[in-house]
Amino acid sequence: MHNYKLIRAHRSSISVSINRDGEIIVHAPRLMPLFFIERFLEEKREWIEKAVEKMHSHPKVHKREYLEDESFLFLGKEYPLHFGNYQEISLTDRLNVPQILKFRVQKELTNWYIKKAKEKITERVKYHAEKMGTTYTSLMFSDTISKWGSCTHDNRLQFRWRLIMAPLMVIDYVIIHELAHTIEHNHSNAFWAIVRKYTPAYRQHKKWLETNADLMVI
Ligand SMILES: [Zn+2]
Repeated sequence: MHNYKLIRAHRSSISVSINRDGEIIVHAPRLMPLFFIERFLEEKREWIEKAVEKMHSHPKVHKREYLEDESFLFLGKEYPLHFGNYQEISLTDRLNVPQILKFRVQKELTNWYIKKAKEKITERVKYHAEKMGTTYTSLMFSDTISKWGSCTHDNRLQFRWRLIMAPLMVIDYVIIHELAHTIEHNHSNAFWAIVRKYTPAYRQHKKWLETNADLMVI
């Protein structure tokens, strides 16, 4: 079995999780014998190995360096950064950036992502609002709100432009979530029933955001 970090606490059951650094964390009751913990981990071995591997194949982005081939997310796909003799930023199988913009690449990329986010999210909000038979007062983009989206009591919608880095299905979930608030201004069962109706796998999409938030940086 891999090395793991054992945290004993006043609890009645044992659980195992993998943190963002790929470490195995085991929570166990204070007096649970070690052989029992090891047996539990042995039973979970397959799951643990898969989870650790997944964490390592998606290393956390700590700091950008803007080097050739550095990975950037767009609509859920990873693109290697490439500098070349271009007129403007474009997306092919790479994220192409004009060499002459290299000295302010972060600013330029941010502007490009914001522009793309506004186009795509506006289009999807309109599409889903019509499908859900609802309306909204205004649509804004921001990066300051801690949530991925928000909806005020008078139905003003706001989204983080960084969402454009997520897969379309995940973006759609966030949009549907906020549009559902124009109908139900709460998180009641009735609210979640609306969300589920328009995005049945919403739990998976929520999870994607939790897992990948660290990679959604420019
Ligand atoms: Zn909500």
